Amino acid sequence: MIAEKAGESYMVEDLDPFDIAVKQLEKAAKVINLDKQALNILKEPMQILQVRIPVKMDDGRTEVFTGFRVHYNNARGPVKGGIRFHPEESLSTVKALAAWMTWKTAIVDIPLGGAKGGIICDTKKLSVSELERLSRAYVRALGEYIGPEVDVPAPDVYTTPQIMAWMMDEYENIVRRSAPGVITGKPLELGGSLGRGDATAKGGMYVLREGAKKLGLDLSKATVAIQGFGNAGQFAVKLVQEHFHSKVVAVSDTKSGIYSEKGINFDALMEHKKKTGSVANFPGTKNITNEELLELNVDVLIPAAIENQLTAKNADKVKAKIILELANGPTTPDADEIFFKKKILLLPDFLANSGGVTVSYFEWVQNVGGYYWDLDEVYSRLDKKMTKATKEVLDAAEKYKIDTRTAAYTISVKRVADAMKLRGWY
Ligand code: NAD
Repeated sequence: MIAEKAGESYMVEDLDPFDIAVKQLEKAAKVINLDKQALNILKEPMQILQVRIPVKMDDGRTEVFTGFRVHYNNARGPVKGGIRFHPEESLSTVKALAAWMTWKTAIVDIPLGGAKGGIICDTKKLSVSELERLSRAYVRALGEYIGPEVDVPAPDVYTTPQIMAWMMDEYENIVRRSAPGVITGKPLELGGSLGRGDATAKGGMYVLREGAKKLGLDLSKATVAIQGFGNAGQFAVKLVQEHFHSKVVAVSDTKSGIYSEKGINFDALMEHKKKTGSVANFPGTKNITNEELLELNVDVLIPAAIENQLTAKNADKVKAKIILELANGPTTPDADEIFFKKKILLLPDFLANSGGVTVSYFEWVQNVGGYYWDLDEVYSRLDKKMTKATKEVLDAAEKYKIDTRTAAYTISVKRVADAMKLRGWY
């Protein structure tokens, strides 16, 4: 169904994100013949916290927000995952994202588990001081549920380094000591890592490079469409041009998509977005819908916005040769099957966007060690991690003759299951 809301049009699918996450897990469990008890543990999060957060608003009213934090699995180490501030946040989405974080930390083989959090709120309707009070109140509500050796949150949709700074400060006030490793994605001045800002898209570029190699696709001649123009999407537009000289022909945000056969200039588009608040009506391009963007005749499609964008309804119309999923959960299981049949190389979310958590992990390592790396060191370590993980996924897909998402799952699930086995959980 296509919904229209305040001039925006977007696909709405009645799909429960957590059901999708469990389906994906079960599919991979079959391939590797996973022990039934291990599967039983992995089908639900280990802990779920739901909190009501009263916040004094600027006009004197008290508004009560609902927040979540889900610890999916900590067999491989402290859990890690972003915090989303979103008006349509739901426990099911947070659970699904926490599951995907578990597979994400495992696929790049970093010693962390998976978590996710969120608050149902519309940041566009909050003043800066309301946002600060909400962020600090969320940390107080979480209490001992977070900590450098317990759960290390990070930014995600509509949360920023400034919000991470407030949250770290609040946590340090509670525990009365310095603890920069409690949260990542902090500003550099407070122990953030160089390279964290563009880490998700940067990591995605290494994954894309390996994927294109596999297909024999020359990225310097490739056309690219990118859905979403936030942190992940903006850097994807910039980096795909910088790394490979590919031509970005389409970009979108919630308001509109834009298309130009000649390619889109990143700096000019940033300037336009800053001035007008959207990519819509960017000079030299024509406006298109988000649905049209997904079906364009391009070599590379990069969903970098929200979940459930590629579904049974539009997958047949997708013409890209490679789909690099920078967003979490943009493709439904039905669409996965269609892409596999059409031999479209899908580089799955928890591999493609794991650059963010990998540099977050680097940030945590630097915080705990108190020694900071230069940018070259961050990028070269990131390249190594992403390249190794991508090769492992592509090899597993070939070995088992399965789609790349299931292939990635087989690797991650096995790693988590092995850790649980060694701990004596089953
Ligand atoms: P963001 O809030 O910075 O940007 C989101 C973008 O998506 C905005 O441009 C917004 O306009 C657009 N958008 C929202 N709804 C849309 C819709 N219905 N149609 C088209 N565009 C829409 O968020 P982000 O950090 O860039 O995250 C985007 C995706 O990438 C999410 O799925 C997130 O979970 C995933 N991700 C982000 C990171 C990271 O480090 N930022 C890491 C891993 C995964």
